[in-house]
Amino acid sequence: METLIDIRKVSKTYITGSFKVEALKEVSLNIKAGEMISLVGPSGSGKSTLMHILGFLDRPDAGEYYFAGHPTTSLGEGRLAAIRSRMVGFIFQSFHLLKRTTAKDNVLLPMVYSGLGADSQKALECLRLVGLSDRVKHRSNELSGGQCQRVAIARALVNDPLILLADEPTGNLDAKSRQEVMKVIKDLNNRGLTVVIVTHDEEVSAQ
Ligand code: ADP
Ligand code: MG
Repeated sequence: METLIDIRKVSKTYITGSFKVEALKEVSLNIKAGEMISLVGPSGSGKSTLMHILGFLDRPDAGEYYFAGHPTTSLGEGRLAAIRSRMVGFIFQSFHLLKRTTAKDNVLLPMVYSGLGADSQKALECLRLVGLSDRVKHRSNELSGGQCQRVAIARALVNDPLILLADEPTGNLDAKSRQEVMKVIKDLNNRGLTVVIVTHDEEVSAQ
């Protein structure tokens, strides 16, 4: 399998007033296209910081990051934003959906933001992939937690990312919804999508 992500000795230090936190210290990690891996560790160990760097939401202070073979640490903001919006899908513990907006319109948003234009068919296809064809017109405040996370997954898929980064995606869900969401994520991985999941849930990491 081809290497998709190759980070070498990446460090990140946060300075807040007189406090200095070394969130990441010379972390190296290699992820191959098509893999599904989990990141586990205690709270505060730098998992979200690493996800933000992997997804180009933040930059390392030191080290190298090659994405699909391309060195990215020297790229300007514009190029990074383009890679982020076209190549990376994110989901979070809190779903970050617009509340009084339909599932379909939530899914369309990344297309609109990245300038690709709203392709309704594509949004419907992504909602079908997460098993929500029957909830297209429901607003997010009319959906269960598990359904909201699946809308968020559909939204993450709409620009055809190379990788899905999931930061504690099941953290706010009950047992049944956790299983539904994990099934969707595993199905996507079986179709070839590379997946990184941060989790506290041993059941999730075991999968
Ligand atoms: P995790 O996701 O594993 O719980 P984080 O990556 O969120 O850990 O945080 C790692 C460490 O960095 C923590 O000690 C946290 O307090 C600190 N930290 C995270 N983000 C910031 C920030 N934006 N500013 C300052 N400190 C931060
Ligand atoms: Mg975190």
